[in-house]
Amino acid sequence: MDGKSVELSGVTMVFDGFTAVSPTDLSIPAGEFHSILGPSGCGKTTLLRILSGFQRPSGGQVLIGGEPVNHLPANRRPTAMIFQSLALFPRMSVRENVAFGLEARGMSKRERSRKAEELLALVALEAHADKRPDQLSGGQRQRVAVARALAVEPAVLCLDEPLSALDLKLRQHMRTELRALQKRTGVTFIYITHDQGEALTMSDRISVMNRGRIEQVGTPTEVYDAPATPFVAGFVGEQNVFSGKVTGIENGFAKIAGPGGTFTGRATRELSVGEHAVLMVRPERTGLVDATTLNGNRLSTRVEGRELEGPYLNLVTRDATGRRIVLHLANDGRQHPTGGDAVIGFMPDDAVVMPAAGGTPENGAAGMPAAEA
Ligand code: ATP
Repeated sequence: MDGKSVELSGVTMVFDGFTAVSPTDLSIPAGEFHSILGPSGCGKTTLLRILSGFQRPSGGQVLIGGEPVNHLPANRRPTAMIFQSLALFPRMSVRENVAFGLEARGMSKRERSRKAEELLALVALEAHADKRPDQLSGGQRQRVAVARALAVEPAVLCLDEPLSALDLKLRQHMRTELRALQKRTGVTFIYITHDQGEALTMSDRISVMNRGRIEQVGTPTEVYDAPATPFVAGFVGEQNVFSGKVTGIENGFAKIAGPGGTFTGRATRELSVGEHAVLMVRPERTGLVDATTLNGNRLSTRVEGRELEGPYLNLVTRDATGRRIVLHLANDGRQHPTGGDAVIGFMPDDAVVMPAAGGTPENGAAGMPAAEA
């Protein structure tokens, strides 16, 4: 199997005056594991449906392997799709499910059977070939869906939240399996998810989407450590946010002054003095420091609560301006009593300053439970 490149050029989708996908350009090289990450309703599925031919775009071009495919229906594109529901045939055996698409391609019964065995071996399901889908575990059903999609030898496999029905442990296991399978086959995977953990662990690159627009395309490290926008920063991980006005820019570092003090971080985007900006630092890069520490950014806070995660501890603090700051610390046995003083700090190199356009996100983790008293 060989992967093909995918190119979107000015692709848009407008439904009855509502813009679901704003003009989008995206270039995915052959053989890449590419995730499209974003919240519900941001246009991920619409983009995938356009790419695989289930939806005609309002404008723009889709190229697969350099060839324009806009005029081709889904079944004539070198793509296959796995839906969230998996859509396995309940009355067919695992082998028949996998071989299903091959008959239409004019393969003899013997060839079909050989090909199905080969694919079942690829997903380690040889021993289950004669079972029906309802006799399999969730993870095994997932692997049947992958084998069935790969049977038609697609150059691009589109996956729409395929793990969302599985429990957490299985989901984590399937991440590793899907990633390994993608590398083994060389097929280009385009993977839709709203789960940042999935996108960060599996992908070569991620497109982070918000309200019909891709806000950043980058490797997991790039989107996590050097987010281009406040939205990307908040969507791919937990964060502490400081807002203010840019008061100076030097050697790639920007200084911002706002409530609670002046802070410095890496300027990952173009900024100008006087501009409203936000500084973002991850909780695991925010630490407790000595009150006399001269280096880096410092801030006096009060401990508000702690959440023990076993080897780690989330320490929730609040500064004099009422800002909530979370620290993700190694659990070294220290108690950090509630109400105690804590001077927190972070190095300029670990913080990112970006234009505030697009709104200032809330501090701390999205979905993180309130601190214990
Ligand atoms: P989810 O993760 O919830 O599936 P998504 O990011 O995949 O969300 P889409 O399904 O692409 O989002 O939908 C994007 C927007 O376009 C939504 O606001 C949705 O209501 C709208 N939309 C999608 N399909 C249609 C349609 N056929 N007609 C009208 N509006 C649509």
